[in-house]
Amino acid sequence: MPVFIYWDIISCMIGNDETIESQADILCKACGLCCSGHLFIWAKLRPSELDRAEGWGLNVFRSDPSQRGFSLPCPLWKGQCTIHASPHYPHVCRAYKCKLLKEVIGENTSLPNALTVIEQVKDMIQELKKLLPPSTETNFRERLVAHLEPPEKANHSTLDFRLKADELLIFYETYFGVKDLIDKPDEEPFEGGDNFLPWNTFHEKTNKILGKHGDFHTKI
Ligand code: SF4
Ligand code: SF4
Repeated sequence: MPVFIYWDIISCMIGNDETIESQADILCKACGLCCSGHLFIWAKLRPSELDRAEGWGLNVFRSDPSQRGFSLPCPLWKGQCTIHASPHYPHVCRAYKCKLLKEVIGENTSLPNALTVIEQVKDMIQELKKLLPPSTETNFRERLVAHLEPPEKANHSTLDFRLKADELLIFYETYFGVKDLIDKPDEEPFEGGDNFLPWNTFHEKTNKILGKHGDFHTKI
C-alpha cells in the first residue's frame, strides 16, 4: 500500500494531533541523524542533568560551565532513543526539532516527502563515508569537516568527494537548518537565536577550521 494512502486512513482513524505526533515519531525513528553524530558534535545539558547523563553512559564533559553536555554519537540511540520515556529525558533532546520535523509538524511537508529526504541524506552520507579516509573518530561531522578543510590542505580530498560533500551540506542547511560546518568568507550573520551556542574551545582541531560565527554543534 502506498505510504500516503496508509496515512490518509490512519488520519481518519485517530485525532489530528495524535497523527502528527505519530508522524513525528516515525520520522525521527527513521532518521536519528541528530543523535548519531551526523549533524552535531555534542548536545548541551543542564547542570542538574549531568550526573544522571553520566549514569546513563553518556560521554559527559562539564569542566567549562559554558559548554556542559555530552558528545555525539549518543550511545543511547539504537534505532530509537532508549530513554525517551524517562521523565528525566534530557531537556535538549525533548526540545530539539530540526527544520524538517517542524515542517512535518506544521503540516507543510508530508511524512512520505520527509522520509524521502531522510533516505536521500542517508544515501549521501554512505557515499561520503566510502570516500573518507579511515579514522578512529566516530563523529561523522568531525570526519567530514576535517577532510574538507582547511583550504590549504583541500587537495587531499578529491573533486568527487567535494562535490558530494557540497551537496550534503546544501541538504543539511535546507532540510535540517544546520549550516556553517565550514568556513565561508562572506557568510551572513548567524540567526540561530538562543537555540544555538557559539563554538568555543571544545575541540581545538575543529575550532580552527570552523567559521567566524563559530559552529553550532549542540542540539539546542
Ligand atoms: S534530525 Fe530531525 S528528523 Fe532526524 S531525528 Fe533529529 S529531529 Fe528527528
Ligand atoms: S538521549 Fe536519546 S534523544 Fe538524546 S541524543 Fe541520546 S538517543 Fe538522542
